[in-house]
Order: sequence, then structure tokens, then C-alpha cells
Amino acid sequence: MSNFTEHESLHEYCTYRTGGQARYFIRPKDTQELKTALVWADSMKLPHEVIGYGANILVSDNGYDGLIICLRDFEKTCLRSGNHLLIGAGVLLNDAILYAAEQGLAGMEALSGIPGTVGGAVKMNAGAYGTEMKDIVTRINVLTLEDGTLMERVYTNDEALFDYRKADGLLGKLVLGVDITLTPGDKDTILAKRKEILKQRTEKQPLNYPSCGSVFKRPTGNFAGTLIEQCGLKGYTIGGAQVSEKHANFIVNLGDATSSDIYNLITHVKKTVFIKTKVMLEEEVKFIGNV
Ligand SMILES: Cc1cc2nc3c(=O)[nH]c(=O)nc-3n(C[C@H](O)[C@H](O)[C@H](O)COP(=O)(O)OP(=O)(O)OC[C@H]3O[C@@H](n4cnc5c(N)ncnc54)[C@H](O)[C@@H]3O)c2cc1C
Repeated sequence: MSNFTEHESLHEYCTYRTGGQARYFIRPKDTQELKTALVWADSMKLPHEVIGYGANILVSDNGYDGLIICLRDFEKTCLRSGNHLLIGAGVLLNDAILYAAEQGLAGMEALSGIPGTVGGAVKMNAGAYGTEMKDIVTRINVLTLEDGTLMERVYTNDEALFDYRKADGLLGKLVLGVDITLTPGDKDTILAKRKEILKQRTEKQPLNYPSCGSVFKRPTGNFAGTLIEQCGLKGYTIGGAQVSEKHANFIVNLGDATSSDIYNLITHVKKTVFIKTKVMLEEEVKFIGNV
């Protein structure tokens, strides 16, 4: 298998820049390479995890004792067909947004600045500034491994069961590509909105430190960042991990954080917020390995 390595450090494959090694690691470029990797892992009875750009994961310091399938090089094509874009899972969401804008297609520019691949964005139902992936996705091409057999299938938006930062209908499935529907718009207006959103994100988020974005989901009727701030946790630090002074729902890596530091801080924040407010925060970040 090409693009296959052993004992690969996952530091460079997650935006936290922490974590250990993957016992086996592959960066498939197309569906055939992906299928070969999955069949191999299945035949070796190895567990596997899929990652995109790694912008919403925390990797254990002990690494992952299985196969990590990294889809950041996967099917990097973005094609226009009328008001639709057909996008491979490995395309960066921001590249797709820029392509749509250049094509005079509106509807996804509010997602500007969300790091990650299109596959990861679909799986997480990523969203910002009033738009979520569920608002623009029409169909999703997926790959499943059922009883040792690989099957490609097309899911509709309804079948994906999109909800806040999740798509339960896609559990256990690999997103290969997506068909999104946009509306014709003025290129300059779309680009201006994109620019304004990028400006707001820079103003509000601690983008100068490694992070995974918001650590916790928004609890009903409240904001995680507000609760964390009200509990006096802004700036609270464990090892090299800190509750951001700029945005309390971000936990940042000050430079030498381990994943354990970050995990311990997540646990401390959850416990403190629960004791003080009776709200149980739920993580948005996904854990890889035994964190
Ligand atoms: C600075 C910063 C700001 C952020 N702001 C936002 C924001 O405003 N809104 C928001 O929603 N998120 C935000 N995030 C989180 C993150 O950008 C999104 O969750 C993004 O969609 C993750 O994409 P990814 O490719 O990095 O996925 P990864 O982090 O690699 O994976 C996330 C999950 O998706 C799964 N996955 C990834 N690709 C596939 C695939 N092709 N098929 C099946 N499963 C897959 C993984 O198994 C994992 O469970 C932010 C993150 C950072 C670092």
C-alpha cells in the first residue's frame, strides 16, 4: 500500500499538535486505496479510525494501537454542476467555500474559517453564523464495511439524521464525497461576507494557539463559554493547557501541552461547571485512543 507508514506521530495530523503515534497510518488518495486499507485492517483484525484534517480530535499521548486512516489527501476534487458542487471528502472546507464564491454560488460562506475537510464537516455537521452543513448538503456518498463486505451507498440529507454537531445516520460510515446545493449570487458580495466572517473569527477566537475550536457543545438555553467564564475558569491552566483568556470554550495548547493536560483540563472544567451551575457540558471534541 502506498502512503502507508508505521509508528507515525500524529502531532502533525491534529490541530492540537499533541498525542502519540499511530501503530499503522495511511493517507489514501482515492476510493480504491481506501478500500484496500480497510480490507487489510479487517483481515488483520485491527481497529481503525478515520480522521480528516484533525481539527476536532484529541489523540491519546499513548497513540492509537490500530490503523489511522487520514483522509486529508482523499479525492481532492470540487466540480460544479449547475447550482450543485460535487466535492471529494478530502477537500478543505475553506477551499470549497472559496471555489463556490469564485463560481458565484452562495450559501456556504458563513462557514468560512472552519478548519477541516469537507468529510469531517459533514460528519460533524459543522456550522457557524447561522449555517450548518445540513442546510446545504443534498446527498452524501459513503462507504460501509458490513459483515466483511465493502459497500458504496448514497445517503440523502434526511437519512444522515443531521443534528447539532452530529449526523447519527452516518455512524460507522466513511464519507467519500458530498453533493451540496447552493444558490446563484454575486461573487463580490459573497467574498465580502467571507472576509467579514474571517475578521470576526480572528477577533473572537484565540487562533494564535493550537486548539480544536469549541471543546463543548452548546447546552440548551445557554452557552458553554459563558458558563465556563461565570465559573471563573478563564485562564485556568493545567500543564501546558489553558482555558483561553479570549474565548472560554477554547482550551489552547500554550506550546508544551500533552493530551493528558488537555483531557485533565476538560474534566476539571466539566466538574466545576456542574458543581456550580448543575449543567453537564458535553464534549464536541472526539477522542482518539485511550485519552
Ligand atoms: C480554530 C478552530 C475553530 C473551529 N470552529 C468551528 C466552528 O465554528 N464550527 C464548527 O462546527 N466546528 C469548528 N471547529 C471544529 C472543526 O473545525 C470541525 O469539527 C471540522 O468539521 C472538523 O473537520 P476535520 O476534517 O478536521 O475532522 P476531524 O477532526 O479529523 O474528525 C472529526 C470527526 O469526523 C470524523 N471524520 C472525519 N472525516 C471523515 C470522513 N471522511 N468520513 C467519516 N468520518 C470522518 C472523524 O472520525 C471524527 O469523529 C473549529 C476547530 C478549530 C481548530
